[in-house]
Amino acid sequence: MRGQMMQLPLDIGSILRFAAKFHGDTEIVSRTVEGPVHRTTYAEAALRVARLGNALRRLGVKRGDVVGTIAWNGYRHFELYYAIAGLGAVCHTTNPRLFADQISFILDDAGDEVLFFDLTFLPLVETLAGRLPKVRAFVLMTDRAHMPANSPIPNLLCYEELVEAESDDIDWPRIDEHEASGLCYTSGTTGNPRGVLYSHRSSVLHAMASNLADGFALSARDAVLPVVPMFHVNAWGIPYSAAMVGAKLVFPGPHLDGTSLRLLIADEDVTITAGVPTVWMNLLAHCRDTGTDLAGLERVVVGGAACSASLMEGFEALGVRVIHAWGMTETSPLGLANTPSRKSAALPAEAQRKIALKQGRPIFGVDLKVADSHGNPLPQDGHSPGALKISGHWICDGYFRLDPVDAHAEPGWFDTGDVATMTDDGFVEIVDRTKDMIKSGGEWISSIQLENVMMSHPMVREAAAIARPDDRWGERPRLVVALRDGAQATPAELREFFEGRVSKWCVPDDVLIVDELPHTATGKLLKTALRALYAQVPVD
Ligand code: ADP
Repeated sequence: MRGQMMQLPLDIGSILRFAAKFHGDTEIVSRTVEGPVHRTTYAEAALRVARLGNALRRLGVKRGDVVGTIAWNGYRHFELYYAIAGLGAVCHTTNPRLFADQISFILDDAGDEVLFFDLTFLPLVETLAGRLPKVRAFVLMTDRAHMPANSPIPNLLCYEELVEAESDDIDWPRIDEHEASGLCYTSGTTGNPRGVLYSHRSSVLHAMASNLADGFALSARDAVLPVVPMFHVNAWGIPYSAAMVGAKLVFPGPHLDGTSLRLLIADEDVTITAGVPTVWMNLLAHCRDTGTDLAGLERVVVGGAACSASLMEGFEALGVRVIHAWGMTETSPLGLANTPSRKSAALPAEAQRKIALKQGRPIFGVDLKVADSHGNPLPQDGHSPGALKISGHWICDGYFRLDPVDAHAEPGWFDTGDVATMTDDGFVEIVDRTKDMIKSGGEWISSIQLENVMMSHPMVREAAAIARPDDRWGERPRLVVALRDGAQATPAELREFFEGRVSKWCVPDDVLIVDELPHTATGKLLKTALRALYAQVPVD
């Protein structure tokens, strides 16, 4: 017998309709590329999204077409998310920090027909335009006053002119919730970037789940600052999850340095923010150096790479609660969020701290297992490391035009490439990425564990552990370290710091001190470059 409930599609358009109707005067604030702070509301945004939808139609965008964006977090990018998906087209966000060759590969592979981009990226797009035969129209996301007098880009269009020319009356198509809505390429740290194609349903369910009390728990009382870029896994879904609860949205534009973020947090009464550890290390260093705080900020989501104890302590000292989270482009991204359970909250403080540093517990909608090489679940004892596999409503089932994910993969499970342990109540700790583990004398050493120890040294700004080839042991760990500004430490002192903090055989053989560590386009340590640069350097 079928239930007698209304059948409505879980479509992205319904999120903004809800926000405009019930939270119409809630603000969306953006620091713009052009300079000034821009203020709008959900109600106004919905009207402009309708105009933009009409403009996209006039540009020939049809259902299933792919429309590209290269843009910071801002209100125009937000409008594009909703207008493109609202038409049944696919919003393809591209990371501008990738190499130009990777960007043109991605835009071509995705088949973008129209490309929207911020003023910052005009020089980049000018160099790429000749290599993008599929792109019919280039739209600069600015007003007439900021349009260049001359540009080698043929028929360069102005965003504000397109929007102003249209009516806010639009006849949106009825969407099938399984239709594609967004496309995001993995950063390609492990090969060519591959496209992950989100659907309306996966995006809506992901946003609802991330709003659960044990997730990011956004609410109508929050002002949320997504520092994680909208070109990186949809800013972890925040443009959807914030609108879904009518939270105030604060977009940082291109200004992600410590001073800009602190001022924005203070000026806009931000209560929750989200981003990768590198950004937060800079923000905390700025607060330390200037003797300032983050008053009003209640919680910070740290994800994309492991949150070290020193980062967590830095925030706690300023009265900000850390929510450690784990995910990947292929998982929309939220898979794990770390909030205490009734049981863990009753443990002694030190045990609670250990658990808080794990990547978290699964939220309903995803299932997880830590498995051996045959796919059999390992004991949930918090000690047995294995391959972390995940399945669920917002987990990718195949790469864009490359499915299936992997001919040898276990059906119904996505292998994350991470090695993890899990406790009986689902707290997962990422031990390492499979390819970053260091195999010494047949035993695995976790690079994350070594990095976390080194990061707790007061002189250290950032640390990376890599494998150095070794005749006797196969591989041995080597630490590459950047010191804090003005700090002094010798490699021998840094090495000694590991004594008593990790097993004897895990103590790195040597430490190299360098000025800067290489990062990926999303701010994570770029282990491939680190290995290429430093793995072969002879031990001193
Ligand atoms: P890419 O895989 O191309 O770097 P993603 O941004 O999707 O792009 O990265 C996902 C990976 O980032 C995960 O598989 C995991 O290795 C790492 N990661 C994400 N969040 C965390 C975290 N909280 N702690 C440790 N590693 C993390």
